[in-house]
Amino acid sequence: MLLLNPGPVTLTERVRDSLLQPDLCHRESEFFDLQDEARARLLGVYDLDPAAWTAVLITGSGTAAVESMIAALVPDDGKLLVIENGVYGERIAQMAGRYGIAHEVCSFDWMQPPDIDTIVARLDADRAFTDVAVIHHETTTGRLNDLRALAAACAARGLRLLVDGVSSFGAEAIPFDEEAIAAVAATANKCLHGVPGVAFVIVRRALLDRLATRAYYLDLGRLATLQDQRNTPFTPAVHACYALVEALREYDDEGGFAARHSRYAALAERARAGLAGLGIVCAVAASESSVVLRAYLLPDGMSYATLHDGLKARGFVIYAGQGGLSASLFRISTMGDIHAPDIDRLLEGFASLL
Ligand SMILES: *Cc1c(COP(=O)(O)O)cnc(C)c1O
Repeated sequence: MLLLNPGPVTLTERVRDSLLQPDLCHRESEFFDLQDEARARLLGVYDLDPAAWTAVLITGSGTAAVESMIAALVPDDGKLLVIENGVYGERIAQMAGRYGIAHEVCSFDWMQPPDIDTIVARLDADRAFTDVAVIHHETTTGRLNDLRALAAACAARGLRLLVDGVSSFGAEAIPFDEEAIAAVAATANKCLHGVPGVAFVIVRRALLDRLATRAYYLDLGRLATLQDQRNTPFTPAVHACYALVEALREYDDEGGFAARHSRYAALAERARAGLAGLGIVCAVAASESSVVLRAYLLPDGMSYATLHDGLKARGFVIYAGQGGLSASLFRISTMGDIHAPDIDRLLEGFASLL
């Protein structure tokens, strides 16, 4: 079965085999070597300077990393503006609510990009804002939100930008050179091709001693301090760390960021062109979409269930639209061990179902 859902991904044999390494106690040097390698390689994905940035590992799925970031980065007396144009933006607003973080939501139509002039007007109308949160790749629709314009607007106002990069880290350019970008949350089991169980936050070292301590298990500052000391507060997902490190070695062996990005771009375009030939069109223009996932309009007269079940019988798991989009969209991600011949077989599956 090939997974075309946005994580967890179809594993390579190399990553799958890495799960079968020796049992490790998480308080022995062998585990801390693994932890150190994962943290160093995560910074290496974007060539980040380890003196300026740190990668903090978090046991959990991508949501745990996003939650850890939001709970720690917004100061106790701070205020957060959440940019929302999909499910994942909504989730950040819900997290802020649960933690009692002062926040407002700047919402946009889910089929549209966030409008920078509207955001700037909101920021200028309330000087209490200290932080802005945004989804880089809004997986709800496959839209890639523009980080540069937003980061520049934040920098001009002395605000921090907190990025959910869960479905873009490793495959889309993230402008870490923008001074406003304070932290990026992501996970092992999307564009990096690891297994679920370990996520991470890339955060500026200069902010570490100013982090809020709202969370206990997900306390980013405590995790960062202990990991820097080759330590860990709780039992990490040891096997998921094995897989993350092997996935990052494989990522580098295959050519790193440039190779992963162009491989996904080629697969996404192959699927788009093939589906267009069958009369199935993108819900968001390819030029505004990520290379990671594309949303398509369901063909006339065909329900998602029919399409899903027919493709599953042929060995492919596609993904439904979320929320209000479930009746009109379906999604195809090309993360994981997916190659051009797989896309060709997928297209044959579509052709036979239509
Ligand atoms: C997948 C995803 C998440 C986290 O989902 P988990 O199920 O917790 O891994 C968060 N944000 C975005 C944009 C995602 O695509």
